Amino acid sequence: MKTIVLLGAPGAGKGTQAKKLCDYLDIPHVSTGDIFRHNIEGKTALGREAEKYISQGNLVPDELTNRLVESRLHEGACDSGFVLDGFPRTVNQADALKSILHRCARTLDAVIDITIPEEEIIERLLKRAHIEGRADDTREVITRRISVYHQSTEPLLAYYEKEGLLCSVDGHGSIDDVWQRMKSLIAK
Ligand code: AMP
Repeated sequence: MKTIVLLGAPGAGKGTQAKKLCDYLDIPHVSTGDIFRHNIEGKTALGREAEKYISQGNLVPDELTNRLVESRLHEGACDSGFVLDGFPRTVNQADALKSILHRCARTLDAVIDITIPEEEIIERLLKRAHIEGRADDTREVITRRISVYHQSTEPLLAYYEKEGLLCSVDGHGSIDDVWQRMKSLIAK
């Protein structure tokens, strides 16, 4: 069983690498961003609530997000492990994850931080906006998401470092360059 968390600033390539990792290890991909977007498209109550925050580049409140992840991880599909992409994003969520895993007698194997230079973030996200047309990839919302990342998510690096779980992968270069680095890390 493999239980992995992927961390990284917006635009670091978490989603792309998470999908490759899940195919490679044959485990489910749990992306809170994808679940929210799916609910927004389906115009569910969760989607309507989440959209208020996502459209502004803010985080969806912890309580709602933690509940969503708990129910997803309790589905049988995650029994063989999972890659968490975009969760946790706050210390409160990291504590909640610890309790959720404790309740099902699991622990995290690794937390992989994909690093990219600050100056590449905006450029990458604007390029993605062009390709994918994500509503939260406008310059204004991107700026907000980066500041939320620094304020709320970056403290998780120290959190997981302290737990001895943090590893980092250089996110610079092509998708395949990064993937080769991910694979050699996993092999260790
Ligand atoms: P992502 O696809 O991971 O970039 O997530 C897109 C947006 O969904 C984020 O900018 C947040 O508004 C929201 N979101 C995703 N994951 C979380 C989370 N763990 N906690 C709060 N909000 C989240």
